[in-house]
Amino acid sequence: MTADQVLAECRELVALPIGAAAERWKAQHPEGRVVASYPVWAPVEVIHAAGMLPLAFLGGGTSVELTHADARFQSFVCSIAKSSLELGFQGLCKGVDGFVFSNICDVARNLSSIYQRNFGDVLVEYLHLPQNSTSPAVAAYMAAEIKRLAARFEDAWDLRVTPTALAESIETFNTLRTGIRALYALRIAEPQKLSTVELYTALRALTMAPPEDGIAWVNALLEAIPRRAARPRDRLRVVIEGTFCEQPPLGLLEVLEEAGCYVVEDDLMLGWRWFTSDVTADGDPFERLGAAYVDQAQPSSTRHEGREHRSTGLLEKVRRARAGAVIFMPAKFCEPALFDYVLMKQGLEKAGVPHLLVEFEEKMWTFERTRNEIETFVESMLFD
Ligand code: SF4
Repeated sequence: MTADQVLAECRELVALPIGAAAERWKAQHPEGRVVASYPVWAPVEVIHAAGMLPLAFLGGGTSVELTHADARFQSFVCSIAKSSLELGFQGLCKGVDGFVFSNICDVARNLSSIYQRNFGDVLVEYLHLPQNSTSPAVAAYMAAEIKRLAARFEDAWDLRVTPTALAESIETFNTLRTGIRALYALRIAEPQKLSTVELYTALRALTMAPPEDGIAWVNALLEAIPRRAARPRDRLRVVIEGTFCEQPPLGLLEVLEEAGCYVVEDDLMLGWRWFTSDVTADGDPFERLGAAYVDQAQPSSTRHEGREHRSTGLLEKVRRARAGAVIFMPAKFCEPALFDYVLMKQGLEKAGVPHLLVEFEEKMWTFERTRNEIETFVESMLFD
């Protein structure tokens, strides 16, 4: 497959509602079950090892009008929570048998119970992710939490996660994540060859299909993209920060690139590429997965990093990607991102890294003011 063919297939998939992606897979696996995970981290290996299809539950984007969900939430709540609930009310999650939420923030915590209360016919599970990553007990705790999730699948549907199956699924997702990391490295090296809109579309499609398909797409992209003829342009290399949960509209990413930025690092779709290196190969797979969650995690505003300053992980990304600036892009009302913005901004200013704040909502559709702001920022940097 050529890069254009892969990207066209990915664009088609990304345009589907989550339920349609589930039904598409079930057409080939009539007895199969589908479990979707709310951001950020998705326990995909466990779902896959139980013989199910793991999907990302990323809200409705621009595809749904809120007609019911507004009544279940306060007005000052991020869009992804409301549109995720709305998808359920409008029957657009039909085909998804289970949902996994976790304690990334108060809104996600409440969404889990609201989901359970409103949709009693699906399995809803809530993961208590560890909050104290410095405790020696935390990896074992996480392994126990992953086992609890596996036991829930067995209780509900008699689908057992054996250590052998889990070890195989870990290997599959290791392969997929290695490919994704290689695509990110390629974009750092030659951002003119792989736009962020393309990379993001491919990443998002990976979360709507079996990992085996994703591996084939990623390999095809890794093969084709380096051969693209594209000359580097005079653009500002930036890191996007704050998009770990609610995803920005594609139009906003387009505007960012059109306004003169090369995005060389980001935290888009973070849960699907949470591990910074392969989950190790030897030992109990539940324990390996638990340890990887704790010790091999991307920096994220949804977990605590012990005594390190909140800007440490971001500064490391800036350095590694040779970026000249950071675009903070938190979703409106996203508390973890907005709290961290204050601390991260301090760290960047101390290190002399310029930054710009661009808030978004998933349903945002007009970008002209944002375009002007980004263009002004880029020009002030490039022509200083
Ligand atoms: S966008 Fe932010 S506030 Fe909303 S659910 Fe996600 S992490 Fe929580």
